Amino acid sequence: MNMDLLQSGIGMTSERTRERLVNGLRREGIRDERVLEVMRTIPRHLFVEEALASRAYENTALPIGMGQTISQPYIVARMTEALLDGGELDRVLEVGTGSGYQTAVLAPLVRRIYTVERIGALLEQARARFRLLRLRNIHPRHADGSIGLPEFAPYDGIIVTAAPEGIPRQLVEQLRPGARMVLPIGGAEGQALVRVTRTARGYDTELLEPVNFVPLLGGVDS
Ligand code: SAH
Repeated sequence: MNMDLLQSGIGMTSERTRERLVNGLRREGIRDERVLEVMRTIPRHLFVEEALASRAYENTALPIGMGQTISQPYIVARMTEALLDGGELDRVLEVGTGSGYQTAVLAPLVRRIYTVERIGALLEQARARFRLLRLRNIHPRHADGSIGLPEFAPYDGIIVTAAPEGIPRQLVEQLRPGARMVLPIGGAEGQALVRVTRTARGYDTELLEPVNFVPLLGGVDS
């Protein structure tokens, strides 16, 4: 885990504030120490608008502009933990870069991460944050991630941070056999966080918990 790259963020907000966030995550059942350590280190205040920076270490989702939101820290931790499940991942795909916070949390825990965002303006801001934090194993792309990113498939893990109505077949096909995808599924009537594991014949699904994400849309916007 490349923690030294992240130390630059420490000191920008008090360590005590971050420690409180991590203690809250522990209480909510996050167990993977690597995930907790990364969440303690990544400066979440750099991923929200300046006016909201003082609220960055609360365990809530916050607006990031363009009608999108940065996910709640607990959900980021839960999805990261479910994706890694104690192992090490080589090549990961993320659909829905948004602020780039989830990407930045995953980056030190995997070898290489491709991240796809359909809104160009959000992707540019996320790129600037990755540069600032020197997270060099992140490969951002401005594209429609609902069809995945076939040119770099197969992936050892896929994480989706916007909700499709059902499990996108093209994404399952881009998983290596045995690899996992963590994603929210559903619409206005309710969503669930699901973990899909690709098998030799098809895939298995596990229901994790109820969630509330923005919808996965098609096409790209500037
Ligand atoms: N993980 C993000 C959460 C962002 S919200 C964070 O930590 O900040 C979900 C994001 O998914 C939004 O930015 C939205 O624009 C994006 N999105 C929705 N549909 C998409 C698609 N088909 N391809 C790529 N990104 C998509």
